[in-house]
Amino acid sequence: MSVIVQYCRTCGGQWFPARLMCPRCGGDDLAPRSVERGVVEQLTHLGDVVIASVACDPEPLLVARLHGTVHPGDVVELTDRPDTSGRPVAFVPPIPQEELS
Ligand SMILES: [Zn+2]
Repeated sequence: MSVIVQYCRTCGGQWFPARLMCPRCGGDDLAPRSVERGVVEQLTHLGDVVIASVACDPEPLLVARLHGTVHPGDVVELTDRPDTSGRPVAFVPPIPQEELS
């Protein structure tokens, strides 16, 4: 399981969602990169839904829907597909490709 973020080959920055150019250095040498895990930072409970900020190493900071019991500071697997395994995961829906063009 993983989430695809955008990696800048010029400065090493990572972003989500993808951009047309790097917001840090302005470069356009960008590539997709798979990120498998992150650290839960903050939780927000919206009824039965739990939304979290999840920090990847070194970046980006993702907003994800949590499944399973997860606490701030926990390392959680990232996925871009709904997961019904029952394991704790952070679900980050992929951005439709037409929104990137
Ligand atoms: Zn850059």
